[in-house]
Amino acid sequence: MKQHIDTAPIWESYRQDCECPLCLLYAKVEAGNVDYFLGESVMEPSQRIEVNKKGFCADHFKLMYDAGNRLGLALMTHTYMKESMKTLKENAQRARDAAAAEAGKPIFKRFGGSKGAGLSEVAGELTKLQNTCLMCERINESMERYMYTVLYMYKHEPEFPKLFAESKGMCLRHYAQALEMAPKHLSGEPLKSFVDALTDIEMKSFERLEGEIEWFTNKFDYRNQDKPWGNSRDAVKRSVNKLGHQVVNED
Ligand SMILES: [Zn+2]
Ligand SMILES: [Zn+2]
Repeated sequence: MKQHIDTAPIWESYRQDCECPLCLLYAKVEAGNVDYFLGESVMEPSQRIEVNKKGFCADHFKLMYDAGNRLGLALMTHTYMKESMKTLKENAQRARDAAAAEAGKPIFKRFGGSKGAGLSEVAGELTKLQNTCLMCERINESMERYMYTVLYMYKHEPEFPKLFAESKGMCLRHYAQALEMAPKHLSGEPLKSFVDALTDIEMKSFERLEGEIEWFTNKFDYRNQDKPWGNSRDAVKRSVNKLGHQVVNED
Protein backbone atom coordinates (compact mmCIF):
# COMPACT_ATOMS: atom_id res chain seq x y z
CA MET A 1 0.00 0.00 0.00
CA LYS A 2 1.78 3.12 -1.19
CA GLN A 3 0.21 6.30 0.05
CA HIS A 4 0.75 9.27 2.30
CA ILE A 5 0.55 8.12 5.89
CA ASP A 6 -1.23 10.56 8.17
CA THR A 7 -0.47 9.51 11.74
CA ALA A 8 -1.96 12.56 13.52
CA PRO A 9 -5.58 11.30 13.72
CA ILE A 10 -4.37 7.99 15.19
CA TRP A 11 -2.29 9.73 17.86
CA GLU A 12 -5.25 11.94 18.71
CA SER A 13 -7.68 9.01 19.07
CA TYR A 14 -5.29 6.87 21.07
CA ARG A 15 -4.72 9.76 23.50
CA GLN A 16 -8.42 9.74 24.41
CA ASP A 17 -9.86 7.51 27.09
CA CYS A 18 -12.30 5.28 25.19
CA GLU A 19 -13.23 1.64 24.58
CA CYS A 20 -12.23 1.75 20.89
CA PRO A 21 -10.07 4.47 19.30
CA LEU A 22 -11.02 3.17 15.85
CA CYS A 23 -14.69 3.80 16.65
CA LEU A 24 -13.83 7.44 17.47
CA LEU A 25 -12.28 7.72 14.02
CA TYR A 26 -15.26 5.93 12.47
CA ALA A 27 -17.66 8.50 13.95
CA LYS A 28 -15.60 11.36 12.46
CA VAL A 29 -15.29 9.69 9.06
CA GLU A 30 -19.02 8.98 8.99
CA ALA A 31 -19.95 12.57 9.94
CA GLY A 32 -17.56 13.86 7.25
CA ASN A 33 -19.21 11.62 4.68
CA VAL A 34 -22.70 12.78 5.60
CA ASP A 35 -21.52 16.40 5.01
CA TYR A 36 -19.85 15.40 1.77
CA PHE A 37 -22.85 13.59 0.31
CA LEU A 38 -25.29 16.33 1.26
CA GLY A 39 -22.90 19.05 0.10
CA GLU A 40 -20.24 19.01 -2.59
CA SER A 41 -21.07 15.57 -4.01
CA VAL A 42 -24.55 16.78 -5.04
CA MET A 43 -22.87 19.11 -7.58
CA GLU A 44 -20.40 16.52 -8.86
CA PRO A 45 -21.82 14.64 -11.85
CA SER A 46 -19.49 11.63 -11.48
CA GLN A 47 -20.52 11.17 -7.84
CA ARG A 48 -24.18 11.51 -8.72
CA ILE A 49 -23.82 8.67 -11.25
CA GLU A 50 -22.27 6.52 -8.52
CA VAL A 51 -25.04 7.45 -6.06
CA ASN A 52 -27.70 6.63 -8.67
CA LYS A 53 -26.11 3.24 -9.19
CA LYS A 54 -25.47 2.23 -5.57
CA GLY A 55 -27.61 4.36 -3.29
CA PHE A 56 -27.33 4.14 0.47
CA CYS A 57 -28.14 1.67 3.25
CA ALA A 58 -31.01 2.39 5.66
CA ASP A 59 -28.64 3.66 8.41
CA HIS A 60 -26.97 6.20 6.14
CA PHE A 61 -30.21 7.40 4.58
CA LYS A 62 -31.42 8.05 8.13
CA LEU A 63 -28.25 9.91 9.12
CA MET A 64 -28.57 12.16 6.07
CA TYR A 65 -32.25 12.74 6.74
CA ASP A 66 -31.51 13.64 10.37
CA ALA A 67 -28.78 16.06 9.24
CA GLY A 68 -31.52 18.33 7.95
CA ASN A 69 -30.27 19.42 4.51
CA ARG A 70 -33.50 18.51 2.76
CA LEU A 71 -32.68 20.07 -0.63
CA GLY A 72 -29.36 18.21 -1.00
CA LEU A 73 -31.02 14.97 0.02
CA ALA A 74 -34.02 15.61 -2.24
CA LEU A 75 -31.87 16.26 -5.35
CA MET A 76 -29.88 13.08 -4.75
CA THR A 77 -32.88 10.95 -3.80
CA HIS A 78 -34.83 12.10 -6.85
CA THR A 79 -32.29 10.81 -9.40
CA TYR A 80 -31.55 7.70 -7.34
CA MET A 81 -35.27 6.99 -7.23
CA LYS A 82 -35.56 7.33 -11.01
CA GLU A 83 -32.72 4.84 -11.43
CA SER A 84 -34.27 2.41 -8.88
CA MET A 85 -37.55 2.59 -10.77
CA LYS A 86 -35.82 1.07 -13.80
CA THR A 87 -35.02 -2.03 -11.72
CA LEU A 88 -38.54 -1.96 -10.33
CA LYS A 89 -40.04 -1.85 -13.83
CA GLU A 90 -37.78 -4.65 -15.05
CA ASN A 91 -39.01 -6.82 -12.23
CA ALA A 92 -42.69 -5.89 -12.21
CA GLN A 93 -43.64 -8.19 -15.10
CA ARG A 94 -41.36 -10.91 -13.75
CA ALA A 95 -43.24 -10.77 -10.43
CA ARG A 96 -46.61 -11.03 -12.16
CA ASP A 97 -45.43 -13.90 -14.39
CA ALA A 98 -43.89 -15.78 -11.45
CA ALA A 99 -47.09 -15.44 -9.41
CA ALA A 100 -49.22 -16.64 -12.34
CA ALA A 101 -46.94 -19.65 -12.89
CA GLU A 102 -46.98 -20.44 -9.16
CA ALA A 103 -50.76 -20.07 -8.94
CA GLY A 104 -51.22 -22.43 -11.88
CA LYS A 105 -49.14 -25.24 -10.38
CA PRO A 106 -51.00 -28.34 -9.15
CA ILE A 107 -50.88 -28.64 -5.33
CA PHE A 108 -48.44 -31.60 -5.27
CA LYS A 109 -45.88 -29.58 -7.28
CA ARG A 110 -45.87 -26.84 -4.68
CA PHE A 111 -44.25 -28.99 -2.00
CA GLY A 112 -40.51 -28.89 -1.36
CA GLY A 113 -37.90 -26.19 -1.76
CA SER A 114 -39.08 -24.77 -5.07
CA LYS A 115 -42.22 -23.22 -3.61
CA GLY A 116 -42.35 -19.61 -4.79
CA ALA A 117 -38.83 -19.76 -6.26
CA GLY A 118 -39.69 -17.33 -9.09
CA LEU A 119 -41.00 -14.67 -6.72
CA SER A 120 -38.10 -15.23 -4.40
CA GLU A 121 -35.71 -14.40 -7.27
CA VAL A 122 -37.51 -11.12 -7.89
CA ALA A 123 -37.39 -10.36 -4.18
CA GLY A 124 -33.62 -11.00 -4.26
CA GLU A 125 -33.16 -8.44 -7.07
CA LEU A 126 -35.03 -5.82 -5.07
CA THR A 127 -33.17 -6.60 -1.85
CA LYS A 128 -29.90 -6.04 -3.72
CA LEU A 129 -30.97 -2.43 -4.28
CA GLN A 130 -31.00 -1.85 -0.53
CA ASN A 131 -27.83 -3.73 0.24
CA THR A 132 -25.38 -1.51 -1.61
CA CYS A 133 -24.26 1.74 -0.01
CA LEU A 134 -21.80 4.21 -1.48
CA MET A 135 -21.23 5.80 1.92
CA CYS A 136 -20.43 2.43 3.54
CA GLU A 137 -17.92 1.82 0.73
CA ARG A 138 -16.17 5.16 1.26
CA ILE A 139 -16.14 4.75 5.06
CA ASN A 140 -14.74 1.22 4.78
CA GLU A 141 -11.93 2.49 2.56
CA SER A 142 -11.03 5.20 5.08
CA MET A 143 -11.19 2.76 8.01
CA GLU A 144 -8.97 0.30 6.21
CA ARG A 145 -6.44 3.11 5.69
CA TYR A 146 -6.61 4.02 9.40
CA MET A 147 -6.15 0.39 10.46
CA TYR A 148 -3.17 0.16 8.13
CA THR A 149 -1.76 3.31 9.76
CA VAL A 150 -2.14 1.75 13.23
CA LEU A 151 -0.14 -1.28 12.04
CA TYR A 152 2.45 0.96 10.38
CA MET A 153 2.84 3.07 13.53
CA TYR A 154 3.16 -0.01 15.72
CA LYS A 155 6.22 -1.00 13.72
CA HIS A 156 7.74 2.38 12.86
CA GLU A 157 6.86 4.89 15.59
CA PRO A 158 8.91 4.06 18.70
CA GLU A 159 6.50 5.78 21.13
CA PHE A 160 3.34 4.20 19.75
CA PRO A 161 3.44 0.60 21.13
CA LYS A 162 3.44 1.95 24.71
CA LEU A 163 0.40 4.17 24.12
CA PHE A 164 -1.25 1.27 22.27
CA ALA A 165 -0.66 -1.11 25.21
CA GLU A 166 -2.20 1.43 27.61
CA SER A 167 -5.40 1.66 25.53
CA LYS A 168 -8.57 -0.32 26.25
CA GLY A 169 -8.31 -2.38 23.08
CA MET A 170 -10.96 -2.16 20.40
CA CYS A 171 -14.60 -3.03 19.82
CA LEU A 172 -15.18 -6.58 18.63
CA ARG A 173 -15.52 -5.55 15.00
CA HIS A 174 -12.32 -3.52 14.90
CA TYR A 175 -10.45 -6.20 16.86
CA ALA A 176 -11.46 -8.76 14.21
CA GLN A 177 -10.46 -6.32 11.46
CA ALA A 178 -7.06 -5.76 13.10
CA LEU A 179 -6.42 -9.52 13.27
CA GLU A 180 -7.43 -9.85 9.63
CA MET A 181 -5.16 -7.05 8.42
CA ALA A 182 -2.14 -7.57 10.71
CA PRO A 183 -0.52 -10.45 8.76
CA LYS A 184 -0.98 -8.56 5.49
CA HIS A 185 1.19 -5.66 6.66
CA LEU A 186 3.35 -7.03 9.46
CA SER A 187 5.56 -10.08 9.74
CA GLY A 188 8.02 -11.71 12.17
CA GLU A 189 8.47 -10.17 15.61
CA PRO A 190 6.31 -7.02 15.03
CA LEU A 191 3.37 -9.23 13.95
CA LYS A 192 3.67 -11.44 17.02
CA SER A 193 4.15 -8.51 19.36
CA PHE A 194 1.17 -6.59 17.89
CA VAL A 195 -1.25 -9.53 18.13
CA ASP A 196 0.00 -10.44 21.64
CA ALA A 197 -0.36 -6.88 22.93
CA LEU A 198 -3.77 -6.32 21.34
CA THR A 199 -5.17 -9.65 22.51
CA ASP A 200 -3.87 -8.99 26.00
CA ILE A 201 -5.61 -5.61 26.33
CA GLU A 202 -8.69 -6.96 24.60
CA MET A 203 -9.10 -9.76 27.15
CA LYS A 204 -8.40 -7.42 30.06
CA SER A 205 -10.89 -4.81 28.90
CA PHE A 206 -13.65 -7.38 28.33
CA GLU A 207 -13.07 -8.73 31.84
CA ARG A 208 -13.15 -5.19 33.30
CA LEU A 209 -16.33 -4.28 31.38
CA GLU A 210 -18.02 -7.53 32.33
CA GLY A 211 -17.41 -6.63 36.00
CA GLU A 212 -18.66 -3.07 35.47
CA ILE A 213 -21.90 -4.14 33.80
CA GLU A 214 -22.44 -6.80 36.48
CA TRP A 215 -22.12 -4.10 39.15
CA PHE A 216 -24.63 -2.00 37.16
CA THR A 217 -27.17 -4.83 37.51
CA ASN A 218 -26.28 -5.34 41.19
CA LYS A 219 -26.95 -1.67 41.92
CA PHE A 220 -30.65 -2.40 41.34
CA ASP A 221 -30.62 -4.61 44.44
CA TYR A 222 -31.88 -2.45 47.35
CA ARG A 223 -29.02 -3.71 49.52
CA ASN A 224 -26.57 -1.98 47.16
CA GLN A 225 -28.52 1.25 46.86
CA ASP A 226 -26.09 3.33 48.91
CA LYS A 227 -22.90 1.75 47.59
CA PRO A 228 -20.89 3.75 45.04
CA TRP A 229 -21.47 3.32 41.31
CA GLY A 230 -17.77 3.21 40.54
CA ASN A 231 -17.30 3.14 36.76
CA SER A 232 -20.63 1.40 36.19
CA ARG A 233 -22.97 4.30 35.45
CA ASP A 234 -22.37 4.20 31.68
CA ALA A 235 -21.33 0.52 31.57
CA VAL A 236 -24.34 -0.50 29.47
CA LYS A 237 -23.52 1.97 26.72
CA ARG A 238 -19.84 1.08 26.74
CA SER A 239 -20.56 -2.67 26.71
CA VAL A 240 -23.04 -2.40 23.85
CA ASN A 241 -20.51 -0.38 21.85
CA LYS A 242 -17.70 -2.77 22.68
CA LEU A 243 -19.77 -5.69 21.39
CA GLY A 244 -21.54 -3.96 18.55
CA HIS A 245 -19.27 -1.29 17.00
CA GLN A 246 -20.70 2.04 18.15
CA VAL A 247 -24.37 1.15 18.09
CA VAL A 248 -25.03 3.78 20.74
CA ASN A 249 -23.67 7.27 20.06
CA GLU A 250 -21.12 8.66 22.49
CA ASP A 251 -22.30 11.76 24.36
ZN1 LIG B 1 -14.48 0.00 17.11
ZN1 LIG C 1 -24.18 2.61 4.52
